[in-house]
Amino acid sequence: MNTREFKPFEHKLWLSSPTMHGEELAYMKEAYDTNWMSTVGANINEVERLTSETVGCKYAVALSCGTAALHLAMKVAGVKPGMHVLCSSQTFSASINPVVYEGSIPVFVDSEYDTWNMDPVALEKAFELYPDAKVVVVAHLYGTPGKIDEIKSICDRHEAALVEDAAESLGATYKGKMTGSFGTVGVCSFNGNKIITGSSGGCLLTDDLEVANKVRKWSTQSRENAPWYQHEEIGYNYRMSNVIAGVVRGQFPHLEEHIAQKSAIYERYKEGFKGLPVKMNPYDEINSVPNFWLSCLIIDEDAMCKQVRGEQEALYIGEYGKSCPTEILETLAKYNAEGRPIWKPMHMQPIFRNNAFVTREGEGRGRTNAYIAGGKLGRDRRPIDVGADIFNRGLCLPSDNKMTVEEQERVIEIVKSCFE
Ligand SMILES: *Cc1c(COP(=O)(O)O)cnc(C)c1O
Repeated sequence: MNTREFKPFEHKLWLSSPTMHGEELAYMKEAYDTNWMSTVGANINEVERLTSETVGCKYAVALSCGTAALHLAMKVAGVKPGMHVLCSSQTFSASINPVVYEGSIPVFVDSEYDTWNMDPVALEKAFELYPDAKVVVVAHLYGTPGKIDEIKSICDRHEAALVEDAAESLGATYKGKMTGSFGTVGVCSFNGNKIITGSSGGCLLTDDLEVANKVRKWSTQSRENAPWYQHEEIGYNYRMSNVIAGVVRGQFPHLEEHIAQKSAIYERYKEGFKGLPVKMNPYDEINSVPNFWLSCLIIDEDAMCKQVRGEQEALYIGEYGKSCPTEILETLAKYNAEGRPIWKPMHMQPIFRNNAFVTREGEGRGRTNAYIAGGKLGRDRRPIDVGADIFNRGLCLPSDNKMTVEEQERVIEIVKSCFE
């Protein structure tokens, strides 16, 4: 329970805000000066080259945002109306909305505790229950690679396409290979709060030239190669602007530097929280190197005070020696620092209340699952609904790469004070 008082942060401490370096402006100006102010130009070509080189895929198609890339990825993967698509439940809604744009039905797959990403055991269970599924959508949360080898081999065994949402994990590797390069088709994002940004923008990633060409065509209103506007397919206006591409181009040389800063932030929190009943967001230390986009923590079960979350608000009862995400987030906000709850799983969202949800134990439906209903424990004494449990006990900490050591130390003290 928070008792101490602190000095508020003079400038707001952000979760993750854009960090500009100067080159961005030069490339934007170049677009202006040469009058390539459209969705064609040198900046776009460079973004595509830099992205495909960095990720280690053959082609990257620059698009207006990661969500647009995911939408076209669904079409590439062969998502069709009425189909079941097996999806990470714990993710940002942008991973899932494009499945629904195409009229297919998301089946949500639970998370695991080792990386907070899709549980391969639950995915296997989902294939047992939905043997007709031909597409899987997996996200790497907070820059931490999921168990992508296992997930990929399960997909291969079931002859399913894998859409890899690497929007948060650009630059993160698994067994030396970049996230975004494992899927049948991959996606990255340059949204304002991502590890590097164009203010907006995203790329579709593929090794297949035919796919790259198809996506280019779809994203430019599906114009056929004819003297007039000729159309054989439905099109989209999804291409990246050459001005935005200038910002992304200027950011690319700083990707490694941003990752190093984020990694240092993660390590400092880890060190600072020693002795507290919390753990940092975990990753596979043998096989993966995250990009550490956001530093998160999870509170030990027996150090949680009572916390109740409705659909729009949260309440808690302070208790000596204990805390909860709501208390920590409210206390941080009081001192002008921004944190955030963990992604609320899609199977807990009202919009998806009728969609299936598969854990390693079997199938539940939306919010009626055992953990929400009564906190029933699974075979290994873990709550059955892992995603709901991580949402309940976890939070994202201020992770801005411009945060000073002194500021971060104050954040650590504020978090500590919540447990006093
Ligand atoms: C940011 C994000 C997206 C969407 O990217 P935009 O560029 O904002 O459209 C998709 N999936 C995840 C997991 C994200 O964090």
